Amino acid sequence: MPAARERLRSWFYRPWFLAMLAAALSATLLMAASLYIAMNQVEQNESREMNAQGERFLARLEQMFGQLRESLDDLEAQPLRTCNDEMIATLQQISFSYRFVYEAAFMEGNRICSNRPRQEGLAMIRPADLRGPTYSYWLNTTTEPDENRAALMLSRGNFRVATSRGHLTDMVDLSPGSSLMVVLDHGKRAIPVLGADQAWPPTEPWPPTSSDALQVTQTRLIYRMPTNNPEYQLVLITPRTAMHVPAVWWWLLPASLALGIFFGVLVFLLVRQRQSLDAELQGAIRRGELQVLYQPIFDLDSRNCVGAEALLRWRRPDGTLTSPDLFIPMAENTGQIRQMTDFVLQRLLEQLGQLLRANPQLYISVNLAACDVMVPRIGQVMARLLTLHRVAAKQIAFEVTERGLVDVVVARENLQSLRDVGHQVLIDDFGTGYCSLAYLQTLPVDCLKIDKAFIDALGHDAASSGVAPHIIHMAQALQLKVIAEGIEHEAQAAFLSSEGVKFGQGWLFAHALSAVQFIELITRGRRLAGRRMDDEA
Ligand code: C2E
Ligand code: MG
Ligand code: MG
Repeated sequence: MPAARERLRSWFYRPWFLAMLAAALSATLLMAASLYIAMNQVEQNESREMNAQGERFLARLEQMFGQLRESLDDLEAQPLRTCNDEMIATLQQISFSYRFVYEAAFMEGNRICSNRPRQEGLAMIRPADLRGPTYSYWLNTTTEPDENRAALMLSRGNFRVATSRGHLTDMVDLSPGSSLMVVLDHGKRAIPVLGADQAWPPTEPWPPTSSDALQVTQTRLIYRMPTNNPEYQLVLITPRTAMHVPAVWWWLLPASLALGIFFGVLVFLLVRQRQSLDAELQGAIRRGELQVLYQPIFDLDSRNCVGAEALLRWRRPDGTLTSPDLFIPMAENTGQIRQMTDFVLQRLLEQLGQLLRANPQLYISVNLAACDVMVPRIGQVMARLLTLHRVAAKQIAFEVTERGLVDVVVARENLQSLRDVGHQVLIDDFGTGYCSLAYLQTLPVDCLKIDKAFIDALGHDAASSGVAPHIIHMAQALQLKVIAEGIEHEAQAAFLSSEGVKFGQGWLFAHALSAVQFIELITRGRRLAGRRMDDEA
């Protein structure tokens, strides 16, 4: 089992595998996303189109019903009640006056007289589909695809009028498979006015619980039109087209593939670069590519240098300087960080041992990684080096970050034993982690280093306060020393000093210096003679 896990792990270090995984994943994701967006767009267009079509139908139907009823009222109001030429002339007159009346007829027993004697279609004998107090309605009176045949017939007394199918379809192009239905009997029965009969009800339950005019099912769009008459409702049913993959997607497909390949190549290059960086870092100490620099720490009032922070630098064979922010996390992952911490301790005592012996108040602080805090090893290494170089333990301080205190019980024990022999313990980058006041009280700590981000927030004129004053007051309440990091402007130094901060480091005073420069700064008299020391390493 562990062997299988090991093999699986090893795959994740292979650039080709990772690149192909990244390419496949990103291409699939992009394709799925683009398909989803395209389908969504088609669906939205379809719904918009359906709404517009429904509204057009409704407007036309209301116009038509209005005219048919009015024409019947006119016929009923005139005195003629016999089938003769005068009646036919009246019927013709009615169909001229009302645009939507295609045929008008009068029934006299079995006789019928119509304005269209040759092609009259109003001799309908089936009972009315809908019978109101004044008018009766026949729907879908013909299934013939003749645009002139009646689609809708109304009667009042012995008069009948009908509109033609063309009057409905000239407005809206009803797509194949679509139907315009009139729904009767409170939703129980539906008769098509246009188009084929449809299975009824189109959704369960009917009427739908939602009051939206448009209902979208998997296969159909159903548009309910509001009518003034509670006896009937108009419903337009259309099959959906969104089931088809939209044409635009066939363009998105190669684009997604190309992007997937691009990501794959990017991952390949990044992994390769990281691996080569990893491999390069392996022998960096042995090849003498690592250097330790010292950034002086000053007393903000007297501007005397009281100590320094040891900072690692990695100068690669091609001359490039790699930031510790990049290689320290990598070394933490590979476990090389222990070797590096030992290197810093050893180098600093070799370089500055004499200076520290000559200046017993001077101290150097060293950054520790999380794994350094988890085992008592550092204390042992340090003790051996201090004896060898005859330097006091109080001259070496240790910086730990809040992130480094994951297992606080173990960390507390190890930090306490460092303090017990005389080292100082500092919390680095304070404020960027999760340390609370209550938590801080339980830690064996001497000093807080306020992170540069909070000092930056003080701005150039430092007038606006931010988080920094809170941290300062908190530290004061806990009787902890404070060091401000990353001071770049005089105003920041003045503000911090007025808030009671005693120590600070930053480019305002000095960059990280080589051992020679740092020794020169101290031996020259520790004071900054108004000139900033620069990083020439
Ligand atoms: P850190 O311990 O918070 O170190 C302070 C960083 O801020 C240093 O960056 C320093 O050069 C920079 N700095 C100081 N003053 C100013 C300023 O006024 N302006 C600006 N912009 N920056 C300023 P550096 O040397 O790049 O180190 C980055 C981080 O790498 C350190 O943050 C520390 O966490 C880590 N690191 C460096 N050396 C070591 C080491 O030997 N061991 C371990 N474990 N970590 C280290
Ligand atoms: Mg630090
Ligand atoms: Mg820091």
